[in-house]
Amino acid sequence: QATDTLAREGPSSPSYDWFQTDSLVTIVIYTKQKDITLDSVIVDHQDDSFRAETIIKDYSYLINIELSHAVQEDFSVRIVENVGKIEIVLQKKENTSWKCLGHPLENHNSLVPKKDAGLFYRQCQLISKEDVTHDTRLFCFMLPPSTHLQVPIGQHVYLKLTVTDTEIVKPYTPVSDSLLSEFKEPALPNNKYIYFLIKIYPAGLFTPELDHLQIGDFVFVSNPEGNFKTSQFQELEDLFLLAAGTGFTPMVKLLNYALTNIPSLRKVKLMFFNKTEDDIIWRSQLEELTFKDKRFDVEFVLSAPISEWNGKQGHVSPALLSEFLKRSSDKSKVLICICGPTPFTEQGIKFLHELNFSKDEIHSFTA
Ligand code: FAD
Ligand code: NAD
Repeated sequence: QATDTLAREGPSSPSYDWFQTDSLVTIVIYTKQKDITLDSVIVDHQDDSFRAETIIKDYSYLINIELSHAVQEDFSVRIVENVGKIEIVLQKKENTSWKCLGHPLENHNSLVPKKDAGLFYRQCQLISKEDVTHDTRLFCFMLPPSTHLQVPIGQHVYLKLTVTDTEIVKPYTPVSDSLLSEFKEPALPNNKYIYFLIKIYPAGLFTPELDHLQIGDFVFVSNPEGNFKTSQFQELEDLFLLAAGTGFTPMVKLLNYALTNIPSLRKVKLMFFNKTEDDIIWRSQLEELTFKDKRFDVEFVLSAPISEWNGKQGHVSPALLSEFLKRSSDKSKVLICICGPTPFTEQGIKFLHELNFSKDEIHSFTA
């Protein structure tokens, strides 16, 4: 009954059905929403248990079933966008006719607010690790073939490791394998691999453990979380990104997405705050991008330069921001995204309000 109540308050309740041929079983989810995409559904099957979580607005609809017969690891997911239908096609291990799909597992066929849905984890394998700066590395993990998961732009996942019987969990934001990926063919098919830029803190709890993983080792990766929506880009003309240290990570996919998909966009400017030149992530790629795309510009600000530095210095300040945040026209539609250490983000937001930017014009990335 609790589910019924929630369903009435939220989107109209989805439903599901299934059908079969000799070799295939198709599970169909009717979301009753039109803006469904491939990142709206997360599918995992492990042994006989099948799980499909569909995100519909701020709600989560779960299919959770112990399948009556064995299926192969590989499956496909299709979206019929105009009718909001999701089709998951499983391949039977044996060509027998199934009498039923299976038995319901916990919370099967329920719709709950996303925040109450809990996180589901699957094991991902470390494929490669590459130094990016003296303390930051690009990690590439491979999703299992039995998982369909695409992290929406601006969202993060949780990584989990067990260290001496204790589980440690921290949030990280997936990035693309490079900033210039829109200009080249991806080296690996992008829907099976997840990349992270992660700074290793020698005295940290989680990152030294992550850094000790060998190629082929596993880490648990959760479902995505976060409240950024690409609809914030609609009709956008000026995009300003304020990033400090690894607060750069959400900006990577945002940048690629905005430059590729938003025709109204005139200007994208990144102000990137770091302690020293050596701390700047992907500096040469950022500089190359300014040549490749005239709409893009980057400004580096250092808080503790060690070598001679002709660029901007200091911490985030009203003076730096007011000079940087010049609209392309008086009435242009603006979005300012900000991410970094908590004091940086909090001060930045305060200064942005003082400069008369409205709440709707600011998106801050936090936990
Ligand atoms: P911690 O144990 O948290 O320690 C970090 C540092 O603080 C160490 O130097 C430690 O010595 C010091 N420290 C710890 N406790 C104290 C204390 N009490 N007093 C003084 N110093 C202390 N990070 C990335 O690198 N990449 C990302 O993509 C990324 N995405 C994120 C997304 C979100 C939504 C959030 C909230 C954070 C993200 N982070 C990201 C940060 C990440 O989650 C971790 O906080 C970070 O990796 C540090 O983890 P740790 O356990 O290794 O270090
Ligand atoms: P860092 O210590 O190298 O600092 C980078 C810059 O941040 C500094 O040069 C300075 O300009 C600014 N800064 C640092 N402390 C400040 C303070 N107290 N007041 C004002 N400005 C300050 O940064 P780091 O070690 O790379 O840390 C990055 C932070 O970003 C972490 O706290 C991480 O949790 C956070 N982060 C958050 C998200 C998210 O919420 N989605 C994503 C990625 C990273």
